[in-house]
Amino acid sequence: MALTRARLVLVVLLLLVFTRLTFADPTSPRLQRIRSFEARLHALVQQGMRGSPTFRALTTRLEQSDLIVYLLYDVCAPPHLAGRLTFLSATGGVRYVAVRLRPLGPAIQAIAVLAHELQHAVEIAEHAATSTRTPWRGSTCVSDT
Ligand SMILES: [Zn+2]
Repeated sequence: MALTRARLVLVVLLLLVFTRLTFADPTSPRLQRIRSFEARLHALVQQGMRGSPTFRALTTRLEQSDLIVYLLYDVCAPPHLAGRLTFLSATGGVRYVAVRLRPLGPAIQAIAVLAHELQHAVEIAEHAATSTRTPWRGSTCVSDT
């Protein structure tokens, strides 16, 4: 059987899927509510969960909430801001917030800032009235840290 270009692409895709499944950490709980397209941010969350019961409690609380937390890098953040949380939207019984982190050097520093912002996300999760119509005014949460 000749290995056509289409078959080669299919084999490569299957290998990529298999590799991803093979190397997935079975001890890491899959997060549904905390999302990121950035592999490093995802890794920081996993590292925070492994190393800190407090961090793990924050993620557990968020996983039980109606909040979706998007983690993003903020390369345009002012120098005095290490991280910030902003409310994005509320629709269909789900509320969306964004946590933006300035790319930081040491992972431990980034995890600390991330935990701080996730704490604010938990505060919003526990304040059901927070939405774009009734913004959360519990802190300087919109521009922070
Ligand atoms: Zn804060």
